[in-house]
Amino acid sequence: MIPVTQPFLPPKNELYALLDEVYDRNWLTNNGPLVNLLEAELPKYLNYKGHFSYVNNGTIALQIAIKALELTGEVITTPFSYVATTSSIVWEGCTPVFVDIDKASCNIDPKLIEAAISSKTSAILATHVYGNPCDVEAIDRIAKKHDLKVIYDAAHCFGTIYKGRSIFEYGDISTTSFHATKLFHTVEGGAIFTNNNELAHKISYMRNFGHNGQEAFWGVGINGKNSEFHAAMGIANLKHANKILEKRKEQWLRYRDGLSSRLTVLELIDEPGFNFAYFPVFFKTEAELLEKKRVLEANQIYCRRYFYPSLNTLNYTSQKESFEVSETSSKVVLTLPLYDKLSKEDQLLIIKILLK
Ligand SMILES: *Cc1c(COP(=O)(O)O)cnc(C)c1O
Repeated sequence: MIPVTQPFLPPKNELYALLDEVYDRNWLTNNGPLVNLLEAELPKYLNYKGHFSYVNNGTIALQIAIKALELTGEVITTPFSYVATTSSIVWEGCTPVFVDIDKASCNIDPKLIEAAISSKTSAILATHVYGNPCDVEAIDRIAKKHDLKVIYDAAHCFGTIYKGRSIFEYGDISTTSFHATKLFHTVEGGAIFTNNNELAHKISYMRNFGHNGQEAFWGVGINGKNSEFHAAMGIANLKHANKILEKRKEQWLRYRDGLSSRLTVLELIDEPGFNFAYFPVFFKTEAELLEKKRVLEANQIYCRRYFYPSLNTLNYTSQKESFEVSETSSKVVLTLPLYDKLSKEDQLLIIKILLK
């Protein structure tokens, strides 16, 4: 069986050594030493210079970002993302206003953003899809011109560099996910990145119920903390992050070499800085995709329609028009198996089936 993904697991002894420490201290959560260590080590690894807050998942990271920026009214966003991008906007009491995507990159199309801005618009929330950076310069220009905040859902972007800087440097806030299915994980987990001191200060309270000491409260908060067990997995995995990224690149390039003459593959915005997180292929029609998916599954190979469906079709969003590029892309895209233990032989088999 070849699954679409498989979490990386560090050698047991490396994880267990950290868990022994947790047992000895009997300090399981609430800003423990391993959480602090991860918060010191991760930004260093990512070459990220701003404020970094480790939280319990990537969805809470988005929700805290929206709260911290005090967004209201409408938030311009992409219909081509994981559901959490849209659901977080709705959950925080704002209205998502979709803008279609650019066909080649699958990221929000900045040329269409201005037409969607109204007097109620407070922000742009865009996803760097598959780890490929959005047109951050264009988005920044539009945001400045209209006095809008920018959040990037950078859940796919562990290790992505754009024009020599960590992709997490961009936007008022960037968020990421360290879920088990992501390139780098802490089982469950996520992070909030901001260069703004005031926002970082606010986020530090918001993440911990608003506590200001044991008996005083700074303001409203939520439980966004993560535990020593999750941090232990992160610290253990971080030692292998270089190897994971190198292997992923080699596998990604093998797919591209094998498939790009016959199938549409992702166009890279900044190849030297790309993290090679996902390998999507785009078929000509949905029927062709379903047929290939069937054949792959008959061979015990499981791909994922990621992202499908286009988020403007969710039953809790209100725009009635269609978003042609996003809807079409979501119907014809299949992301191929990509994980550390995926063998060259299995990849060559997948390529052979896809070319047949
Ligand atoms: C995984 C993912 C999320 C959610 O992260 P969790 O840690 O699972 O809550 C949000 N947005 C995108 C684009 C994702 O891929």
